[in-house]
Amino acid sequence: MTRPLPDDLLKVPHRRDVPFARLTTLGVGGLCRWLFEPTTEGEAQAFVRACAREGLPWRVLGGGSNLVVLGDIDTPVLRLALPKIVQRDGTRITAPASHGHIALAEAAAAAGLSGLEFASGIPGSLGGAIRMNAGAYGREWVDVLARYRFITPDGELVEKAPEAGEFKYRWSFLTGGRVVLSATAQLAEGNPAAIRAQVAEYRAKRGTSQPLSKRNAGCIFKNPPGQSAGRLIDQAGLKGLRVGDAEVSPEHANFLVNHGRATAAEFAELMEQVRTRVRERHGVELEPEVEIWREHP
Ligand SMILES: Cc1cc2nc3c(=O)[nH]c(=O)nc-3n(C[C@H](O)[C@H](O)[C@H](O)COP(=O)(O)OP(=O)(O)OC[C@H]3O[C@@H](n4cnc5c(N)ncnc54)[C@H](O)[C@@H]3O)c2cc1C
Repeated sequence: MTRPLPDDLLKVPHRRDVPFARLTTLGVGGLCRWLFEPTTEGEAQAFVRACAREGLPWRVLGGGSNLVVLGDIDTPVLRLALPKIVQRDGTRITAPASHGHIALAEAAAAAGLSGLEFASGIPGSLGGAIRMNAGAYGREWVDVLARYRFITPDGELVEKAPEAGEFKYRWSFLTGGRVVLSATAQLAEGNPAAIRAQVAEYRAKRGTSQPLSKRNAGCIFKNPPGQSAGRLIDQAGLKGLRVGDAEVSPEHANFLVNHGRATAAEFAELMEQVRTRVRERHGVELEPEVEIWREHP
């Protein structure tokens, strides 16, 4: 970024030149040139307001578990670092967006509250999960979401209950400069042993079907209508296809894994090869499910 950043923005806690390898589960990408980590809602609001006033583009990062970053990113990146306090009010729990998603599911289970078992294997932050309306095993966040709090693109604070049309399958309207700050889940009193058993069952399923011992970003491509992206990739004979240290997982064809030293360029090349060969074999255009960040062609 050649343009100097305004003083009020620079008052928000920040770090320079942080490798995206440390900020994402896939472990690739260049440098995050400006990483802003507000520790209060006020600081987050100040960040958004300053960027809006200056007309500065910016991005928001959670746990980086649904992200492939290609190269360096110069635009300021906001990553909330709010105190990880979970509040309970009867069967409702409220947590800040920067709370670990799996840790929140575990906290609910430990409190004997049922409803977040589906979340117990989905990494990342609560904010990312709300933004993505993350889900598994037939449940998704909007099923339990009672209220949420966010910053608008102009820097205003809004707290509300979800309304029709705001959340769909792996999609929410919380994009385009909106920042989720916290969320409240409406859960139910449950039998602690039954909750633990359900969590264990879901985890066992993931353990046998997903390459969890290698760094990855979950499912890379969206399922085309009525089809499974993983099956299409598998039928095209692409399991085990490798570019450098990036590989189409032999365990789950829709997972690309990092054998340790993969680069962003290798993942970009591997994704392109998968798309081309699925198009040639099935006539289907695969679309990324992961978000791709790239600033320099
Ligand atoms: C092993 C593995 C298994 C997975 N399994 C599942 C699964 O079963 N179901 C599923 O749905 N997903 C799954 N995922 C994908 C991923 O974990 C989810 O999409 C997760 O909710 C993303 O959260 P995050 O904090 O990591 O978001 P990031 O990857 O950091 O960001 C994702 C998007 O959310 C935005 N975002 C992040 N934080 C905020 C915020 N506070 N406010 C507004 N926008 C924000 C980002 O700008 C970006 O657009 C899996 C991933 C992995 C690695």
